[in-house]
Amino acid sequence: MLKISNLTTHYGASQALFGIDIEVAAGQVVTLLGRNGMGKTTTINSIMGIVPASGGAISFEGTELVGRPSFKIANLGLGLVPEGRQIFPNLSMMENLIATTSNHLKVSNPWTVERVFELFPELAIRQSSMGNLLSGGEQQMLAIGRALMTNPKLLILDEATEGLAPLVRQKIWAALTLIRNEGMSILVVDKNLSDLLRIADRNFIIERGKIVWDGTSDALRKDRDALHRYLGV
Ligand code: ATP
Repeated sequence: MLKISNLTTHYGASQALFGIDIEVAAGQVVTLLGRNGMGKTTTINSIMGIVPASGGAISFEGTELVGRPSFKIANLGLGLVPEGRQIFPNLSMMENLIATTSNHLKVSNPWTVERVFELFPELAIRQSSMGNLLSGGEQQMLAIGRALMTNPKLLILDEATEGLAPLVRQKIWAALTLIRNEGMSILVVDKNLSDLLRIADRNFIIERGKIVWDGTSDALRKDRDALHRYLGV
């Protein structure tokens, strides 16, 4: 579904990505792991066209993404849950949700406000609350719901549960598992390794702008050297 080949990205004269290769097959949950500042957000922002790639290729279902503006990339079926959630603070919870409603790919049984409330009942009782008054957990649920309202084929989450209480984290993982079971492909960045490995089919580790390891969750659990060397566990 998504194939990133030899991706390089620069911030001015400073190079952040040095030839990234990542693949996500349809229906898979794939993680991008790595310590702080290794290039996870840069990779995701390069996929979405938020930070321009300086080289390499990113193919989504055969369409090249490099060089396209973000809104066109989103319309191809990529839904982003950005780092820091980026909820519109001066819109209500409901307005945040309906602001992105679309079904460019004409999927059958599209996501609706009702389906998002089924997934996250916590949101249903906060419909008129302004975005900036929601808790971190509610904002993250809303950010996921907002991405789902675009009816993507691939959901990309940058820091799925950062800063959230354990109970809220479990709700997010349970929701992602449900979404995955309905056939959604997911590319996810997070620091909660044990939760991530439980739902992931394949994992990529990034170190100083390069992929240094990839494999299944079982393989990673057994590779104590890689866990220690690249993730500090
Ligand atoms: P974190 O987990 O802390 O978010 P990350 O793995 O997502 O880290 P990136 O944010 O992608 O890492 O950063 C990769 C490298 O690019 C770092 O060296 C960082 O300092 C640099 N970088 C990130 N954003 C910018 C920017 N806007 N301008 C210049 N350099 C940047």
